[in-house]
Amino acid sequence: MRALFIALVVAASIPGLSAAWIDGWRLQNPIWRGAHVLVRNPAFVRDLEASLPALTNAGLNVLVVQIDYGLAFDQHPEVRGTGFLSKAEAHHLTEACHANGIRLIPQFSCLGHQSWSSNTGPLLVHHPEFDETPGQFPENKGIYCRSWCPQAPGLAPFVRDLMDEMIDAFDADALHVGMDEVFLLASEHCPRCKGGDPAKLFAGEVNRLHAQVVGRRKCEMLMWADRFLDASGTGYGEWEAAKNGTAPAVDLIPKDIILCDWHYEPLDKYPGKPDRYKSLPLLLEKGFRVWPSTWRNPKSATAFSEEARALKDPRMLGTLVTTWGAVKPAGLADWEPLRAGFSVWPK
Ligand SMILES: [Zn+2]
Repeated sequence: MRALFIALVVAASIPGLSAAWIDGWRLQNPIWRGAHVLVRNPAFVRDLEASLPALTNAGLNVLVVQIDYGLAFDQHPEVRGTGFLSKAEAHHLTEACHANGIRLIPQFSCLGHQSWSSNTGPLLVHHPEFDETPGQFPENKGIYCRSWCPQAPGLAPFVRDLMDEMIDAFDADALHVGMDEVFLLASEHCPRCKGGDPAKLFAGEVNRLHAQVVGRRKCEMLMWADRFLDASGTGYGEWEAAKNGTAPAVDLIPKDIILCDWHYEPLDKYPGKPDRYKSLPLLLEKGFRVWPSTWRNPKSATAFSEEARALKDPRMLGTLVTTWGAVKPAGLADWEPLRAGFSVWPK
């Protein structure tokens, strides 16, 4: 086994052999014990790289790094965010992860989350023609996050360019496309989408992204699952499930997408006070692989993970521990919520 690992490390350092690396990783890692981090700048990446051996020891074998606009995009340099990574830094992170037996999955958040608080992301700052609600909600008051318009002329090839560059920079074999908490969809302020079916518009965007990521680039595609869940049927609130008509989209998309089903609270905190995390069997029954995703509450992380594992389904991948800035890279390997979730899915 050690010889195989060494061979895989060597393979990872030779351009073009990453396909061999991922084949070996799959054989060795039937359970995915992952962490999701927001990458803010090159200094954060250096701290993350320094923590990789400890993370491997803690059982981590997948790292989802949310990059969004934080990369030195060449074709559309105007959308580079503050603190962006060079492509050499991106590639170095992948190599460091592979050397520690960790699969790296970059994330580019699509459709929603194009702003945060009063700050609008660089895409819609520089290309307001892609905005679902152009000219509306000054300083983003009255909304959660801006969305891009899935039907805006020129948007699809623009996003394809960004994704191509991200996949190439990280030598990625998978891409997480976000798609969570999309509230602005089929807006009355969009001349193209007004009056449209939110489920069909949402599924249409998922399918376009899938054609790019899976169809053209032969990568795996991951996304958050909340828009595929009906809030009233599952008992969850409108954040981790949908009240805005997108849930039927779950029947309109390819089954090879990995759905990251995120729930961070104990069941009695949800509006419907469900007696179990109903999304887990629901998404499995629809035919998807499911990656249950937790956050900072160790008791919830344990309960959610145990419920997932008890289903004994091979399409239940393991656990993804999100961080959302609650812990720095140096403390991640010993972070109690990570230990809690991983203990349910031991090596
Ligand atoms: Zn629109």
